[in-house]
Amino acid sequence: MPADPSHHVSRSQPLDSQPLGIRASAVEVRRSARRRRTVSAYREGSRTIVLIPARMSAAEEQRWVTVMLDKLAAQESKRMLGDDELAERAQRLSDQYLDGCAAPDTVRWVTNQNTRWGSCTPSEGSIRLSHRLQGMPEYVIDYVLLHELAHLLVPGHGPRFWKLLDAYPRTERARGYLEGVVAAGRLPHLPTGREEPED
Ligand SMILES: [Zn+2]
Repeated sequence: MPADPSHHVSRSQPLDSQPLGIRASAVEVRRSARRRRTVSAYREGSRTIVLIPARMSAAEEQRWVTVMLDKLAAQESKRMLGDDELAERAQRLSDQYLDGCAAPDTVRWVTNQNTRWGSCTPSEGSIRLSHRLQGMPEYVIDYVLLHELAHLLVPGHGPRFWKLLDAYPRTERARGYLEGVVAAGRLPHLPTGREEPED
């Protein structure tokens, strides 16, 4: 806990307000006449694109969408840090950039946080990161983690807060990345007829 007694205010609600701008991830199925047998899927911002052959039936489409979503999720969870690693990372970031002043009791991933990248409750010393960060570059995850660590010391986004993040060299880049993700989720669909590469 910070030394300043004003921070000992008990809060039951998370403090933070980093807007995420993505309410739900949508699945978009694109049919391709050129695609004969192969099915593939990838993430594009908040959406998941599944590419299937044009001739596939609705039932097959449904089955393949399920298969591909599971496959993507499995790939992503392999890359994902566990809660223990997340806590270690938070400790290291606090030591490196905040003189070890921020010492959260818990740091964990949550899946119910769709409007914020991260949040914290200083009274509980808890930090939560949105699972939507999983699979993003480590410097982005580190930034959000450091951002929440700094909130354990300073609430709000005033100059004192940003000063704490000054030492992290990729603050601007990480913020730009996250803004890009949000913006990509709002892009209109690409014109149809665009040739999709076969895998
Ligand atoms: Zn914040």
